[in-house]
Amino acid sequence: MVRTRIAPSPTGEDIHIGNLYTALINWAWAKKNKGKFIVRIEDTDRSRLVKDSEKKILQTLKDYGLNYDEGPDVGGQYKPYRQSERLSLYKKYSQELLDKGTAYYCTCSRERLDELRTLQQKQKQVPKYDKHCLSRQKEVKEEIKKGRTYVIRLNVPSGREIKFQDVIRGEIKVVSDNLDDQVLLKSDGYPTYHLGVVVDDYLMKISHIIRAEEWLSSTPKHILLYEAFDWPPPIFAHVPILRNPDRSKLSKRKNPVWASWYLKQGYLPEAVLNYLALMGWSHPKQKEIFSLDEFVKVFELKKVKSVGPAFDPVKLEWMNGEYLRKLPISNFKLQISNFYNNKLPDNIVERTIPLVRERMKKFSDYFPLCEFFFERPKRHEVDLSAKKELLKKMHDELAKISNWKADKIGEKMQDLAKKEGVKTGEFFMTLRVVTTGKKISPPLNESMQILGKEECLKRLV
Ligand code: GLU
Repeated sequence: MVRTRIAPSPTGEDIHIGNLYTALINWAWAKKNKGKFIVRIEDTDRSRLVKDSEKKILQTLKDYGLNYDEGPDVGGQYKPYRQSERLSLYKKYSQELLDKGTAYYCTCSRERLDELRTLQQKQKQVPKYDKHCLSRQKEVKEEIKKGRTYVIRLNVPSGREIKFQDVIRGEIKVVSDNLDDQVLLKSDGYPTYHLGVVVDDYLMKISHIIRAEEWLSSTPKHILLYEAFDWPPPIFAHVPILRNPDRSKLSKRKNPVWASWYLKQGYLPEAVLNYLALMGWSHPKQKEIFSLDEFVKVFELKKVKSVGPAFDPVKLEWMNGEYLRKLPISNFKLQISNFYNNKLPDNIVERTIPLVRERMKKFSDYFPLCEFFFERPKRHEVDLSAKKELLKKMHDELAKISNWKADKIGEKMQDLAKKEGVKTGEFFMTLRVVTTGKKISPPLNESMQILGKEECLKRLV
């Protein structure tokens, strides 16, 4: 049974777009194998918790359609799915390791640890704990009895080669001497990431751990833990982290990183997921646009490349535009209305869509393009004060039209331009600016037809 999971920490205002990518891969792999996709909230770093982060993360996953089979708000056989509600388990399992001698108590003070690190840094050694407490466990236990705070550490064996297979990266080997005696249980009774993740992945019967490459260096520690518990390790696949086109790590400063931002801007969830699917993986037929169903069918975990793909917002915008154009017109209209909270008059939305659809890359492009249909321009992008006479002539000529249609408007205005000896470009620019407020607008004659004769004449005086 394939069981995949994401294990977000509720430490940001929403799910990061990079984590949405990992979620997509986990979701797709579970779907492909008729397995289950699980969400577990890793909220053990109490100092970094952000209020409402968990709620937002879960909502955004749903908004993107990445529905999960088990999770904190939907429950499941292996509940609870929030680590803060599983503290007794971590205690039990760290006790098991203490009993086996693969973990030990440590009461070293912050000062001692700081001094140790400074010394090691001076001597150009890898900073790591010196196992000071390991040989004095009896004493340490006495100290703890007297109320001294303590942590529980993993007893990393020396001189061991730790090996594991990564589906994407092949065999990974590390020497245990480079690993620190990792804290497993903190002085506040919460587990560290390493203990929590191993215990929960095991108890929740996770078959594939698919996560970002930034966790690759933690995996050898996890392997040691699986060994210490005598549990079979799951399959590991570390997917690349998304990068900016300049190869730097995707960060808030360069691009919007919160997944819900894209939806708020009027991107379609399926377009964003299609784009993300292409990060580090290509369709066997080199297709760029494909449905989520098709992705699930043709996706292969081992075909994901290990190099960091570039997350290019311009390309994403292009792809979203392609999706918008493929939407049936009635659906398009509905989505625009929803996007603007049903505040725009339906009849205008319906009539203007054909004029602007080709130019739109996301729903939020609609209003700036069509604003002038809903309200008279408050200002003109070009100063028209020298054009008063011409505007008056346009007005009088347009007033004569009885059958108010785009082609009629066009003809009348062409004739007038000729008669007045004004260059067509300049003439229509003036008419465009006075009607729409802008130098660039949807097709003018058609727009004027939609605006109606009365309204157009009002804008000309
Ligand atoms: N809590 C980790 C995170 O915030 C989970 C990493 C993992 O998937 O093991 O992403």
